[in-house]
Amino acid sequence: MDFLSFIDLTLFLLLFALFVYVFASVTITILHKVYLTFHFCMMFWPICQFAIRAVDTPKVQLFYLKLSFIDMCLIAVGWLLFTIFLTGHAQFLRKKISILLFVPALFVAICVIANPNGKFVLPLQGNYIHRSYGLLFWYLITVLIGYIAVSLYLMSRALLSDKAPRIKTQVKQVFKGITVMTVFILLDIFFNVVLNLPLPAIPGLTSLGILLSVIFFVIAIHRDKAFDIVKIAHQDIIDTIDHGILVLDDNEVVVEINRALLPHIDFRIGSLFDMANLLSKGQSRSNIHLFLQTYQKHPLKRTQIEMKFHNGKHVNIQTAPISVDNEIVGRVITFQDVSELYRLIHETNFQNEILQERNQSLIIKQDELSLTNRKLEKMAITDGLTGIYNRLYLTQKLEKEVVNNIKHQIPFSVILLDIDYFKFINDSYGHLVGDQMIISTVTAIQQTLRQTDILARYGGEEFIIYLPRTGQLQANLLAERVKSTVESNKMIVKNSPQSLSITISIGLLTINNFTMESLRSPHTYLNELLESVDKALYKAKEEGRNRIVSVVR
Ligand code: GH3
Ligand code: MG
Ligand code: MG
Repeated sequence: MDFLSFIDLTLFLLLFALFVYVFASVTITILHKVYLTFHFCMMFWPICQFAIRAVDTPKVQLFYLKLSFIDMCLIAVGWLLFTIFLTGHAQFLRKKISILLFVPALFVAICVIANPNGKFVLPLQGNYIHRSYGLLFWYLITVLIGYIAVSLYLMSRALLSDKAPRIKTQVKQVFKGITVMTVFILLDIFFNVVLNLPLPAIPGLTSLGILLSVIFFVIAIHRDKAFDIVKIAHQDIIDTIDHGILVLDDNEVVVEINRALLPHIDFRIGSLFDMANLLSKGQSRSNIHLFLQTYQKHPLKRTQIEMKFHNGKHVNIQTAPISVDNEIVGRVITFQDVSELYRLIHETNFQNEILQERNQSLIIKQDELSLTNRKLEKMAITDGLTGIYNRLYLTQKLEKEVVNNIKHQIPFSVILLDIDYFKFINDSYGHLVGDQMIISTVTAIQQTLRQTDILARYGGEEFIIYLPRTGQLQANLLAERVKSTVESNKMIVKNSPQSLSITISIGLLTINNFTMESLRSPHTYLNELLESVDKALYKAKEEGRNRIVSVVR
């Protein structure tokens, strides 16, 4: 061979490298890749056979001869790999042990390349067109038959198992292909090797077998859409989805069961599906009878029901028609396990109940608390003995009132009164009587007051009265009324022959003069006012008690 012939070979190798690159990098399924490799190997055999006859040099003939038998080893391995993929054992190839599958083929290939002492092949009449095969050739045939036998075994197992009908149809086609090819290889061996001498050789028998088996594939690819990626994807989805899926034909015969459903049912592909029987194994909140009626009488309608089965599972069953031109050709029934949903709803309801109970008791506690709060508030501003306001409340109230009155120049008055000689009452009749006297006096005073007047206990037996919007004249009248009411208030006391009565002394202060300066510190101003009314009271005491001393500011 000269240099120029190597240019073509180099170009071929470059083209081949590009083919391998494209093939490896494009997105197609592994099944596609395995098939295309396999197809490529099968194409190689006839071309090598042609090449053997086309060249004259025995050395080159031997090269093509070896090449074609190495190719045959690849075809055998290819068959097996293809079968493994097709029958759903692809995961086996991920295990390291799967390398052992290649060992026999590799060993045979080495023997073919080495051809020690012509134990594989020897030329007859000085070339390899006529040849005689040695022991290693028979070894090669045995290995090939071994590969084919394993392939056939895997396929027959797949055909007998309950794999999806789609897979079975494909396996059947491949089974036919492999059988045809094997028969032709055996015929080739028989006529061209065993009976080599007495008969003229029949060329192309194995090539024909290869062609026929490929035709079986092409049929499978076209008619059954064996390599239809969308179909494969659909099948994958159906098998990996966690809803149960059941496909029935128009006679209610089960044609497909997906993997999720398989463990939960006792019928298999080919059996007659009985919806009524299935529903009898559980209960439902909705009307089972109505569902069954729709299912049986209106197959074109979609229906659904939620069932609780005896194993405690809640399952949502939906049925949908598969129709062509409004004519039903089958049905899809899906089963969705909604137990978890039910459990969550149940738990949420339970938690809700607990929360509501807690809420209720919280509301009760809150009511109690606000009641206590109101009591405390009242306690903070009222006097325990008499129930009228205490000093704290009145001084706070007065602070606001004084500011407002001065701002709007509204006259107002304050009365400070003290019971005369009260120590004497206590000493003579005891503290309890004294207390009753205080209460009775307060009741009497309250009756003389207007609704807007505010009475408060200032301390001990001293009381203060705020008279809003009251000038000196009116305030004097009111003070007189209070004084005389108290004086005429008689109290019957145990162990005493007569009823008791007391008098009071009153300091009265009326504000008519409004200095805005006082607004700067209302607190101080109020203290000044209280001081002056206190002085007035003191004066009333000094002047002999049971009297009113009034001042105007
Ligand atoms: P005066 O005319 O000067 O006011 O004479 P008085 O005896 O009333 O003297 P003063 O007002 O200073 O004394 C008040 C007395 O009232 C002293 C105290 O023991 C008594 N007292 C104060 N608070 C109460 C109370 O809540 N109950 C009873 N029973 N006595 C009280
Ligand atoms: Mg007193
Ligand atoms: Mg006093």
